[in-house]
Amino acid sequence: MQFINISHPEQNVTFPRAVITGLGKGQGLFFPEHIAPLDNIPALLELDFVDRSKIILQHLVGDAMPTRVLQKCVEEAFNFPVKLAPVSGHVFALELFHGPSLAFKDFGARFMAQCLASFRSDQRTTILTATSGDTGAAVALAFYNQPGIDVVVLYPKGKVTPLQEKLFCTLGGNIKTIAIEDDFDACQQLVKQSFDDQQLVASIGLNSANSINVARLLAQVCYYFEAVASLPRGTEPVFSVPSGNFGNVTAGLLARALGLPMKRMVAATNRNDTVPRFFESGKWEPRPTVATLTNAMDISLPNNFPRVLELEQRHGLPLQDLLTSFSINDDETKEAVRALDAESYLADPHSALAWKALTDSLEENETGVFLCTAHPAKFRETIEETLERPVTLPEALEKVSGKEVLSIEMPADFELLRDYLLKE
Ligand SMILES: *Cc1c(COP(=O)(O)O)cnc(C)c1O
Repeated sequence: MQFINISHPEQNVTFPRAVITGLGKGQGLFFPEHIAPLDNIPALLELDFVDRSKIILQHLVGDAMPTRVLQKCVEEAFNFPVKLAPVSGHVFALELFHGPSLAFKDFGARFMAQCLASFRSDQRTTILTATSGDTGAAVALAFYNQPGIDVVVLYPKGKVTPLQEKLFCTLGGNIKTIAIEDDFDACQQLVKQSFDDQQLVASIGLNSANSINVARLLAQVCYYFEAVASLPRGTEPVFSVPSGNFGNVTAGLLARALGLPMKRMVAATNRNDTVPRFFESGKWEPRPTVATLTNAMDISLPNNFPRVLELEQRHGLPLQDLLTSFSINDDETKEAVRALDAESYLADPHSALAWKALTDSLEENETGVFLCTAHPAKFRETIEETLERPVTLPEALEKVSGKEVLSIEMPADFELLRDYLLKE
């Protein structure tokens, strides 16, 4: 399988090259050139998560990675469970937060880290990534103490929760964290500017671990198969995905293009609603990003959206029938946390927002699956305020809660960042 830069299709590379390069020429995103459906999906659905994921990823990556190497990457990356929990009637929660950073980003970040480690030459590698909260922790924990790899994480100062910050800013060692005095879009812009600087890229071996890296996207395809495998045979669920950069939605659509039985998808956003308004009006009109309770989705320039369109334009996916998008506000999100709690299900605000968008649109004969992208304790403040009772911390959070944050602070100024990267 080859991967093309969707802005410059003449740039056509293997999977390892796409992963190492991160972002293509002219800030273009890599994406599979052709997507062949998987053979024998009924048999695949009978396998366990790791064995099935090996087959799916080998199919996507092709022979650019030896089978044994790829299999080892999958085993090391996916060393924690995916759970499908019944919530009510025909509604299920796909719990993706049982990994080390307690968010679904562990799947993509850990698979990418394993791939990069397996491709590594002796050259120094610097992973530069922007995070609105959860990517930072997943990437930092996936690369922590990996020899020859430095990680620099940019995040919007004061716009991630204290516990999110503790998870990735207290590690030290090869993990550097910078609190940028601006919003997430500004952090993402700094990453893009860094990639445009060829001299910088070459001198520090720059690589990105954002959802723009195609390795992360491919890894996320696997848990959509797990959801369907966990449902009664023949079920074609509706998936609802809490969406910010639209990487998770892209992975779901990719699973559909590979032949996974599903009825349709709902992309649920918060008030940063560039995509729902685009579906409504046909116009791409991003507005300034606003802060919400679901901070991992406070994004008005979703950087994976070109891949969603590519799935329609190049790969013929009928987006019109397959994908709808709704915006849910903070009050509705809190109401959803309460409504789920009344069903004895404790959901973080992002997951609850997806549940709300799902149940608003689910028809009686449909089965719905909403993606639970973070552990509720990661958003303890909001949950405690909404439910008016304390939330107990899981061990991974308890351990870091007393540690010192090691971040430096910086204005959103590319020259300053450049100097820092070259000096480190
Ligand atoms: C990153 C994140 C999202 C958004 O996922 P995208 O792939 O960027 O759309 C949703 N929920 C949580 C908890 C996240 O960390």
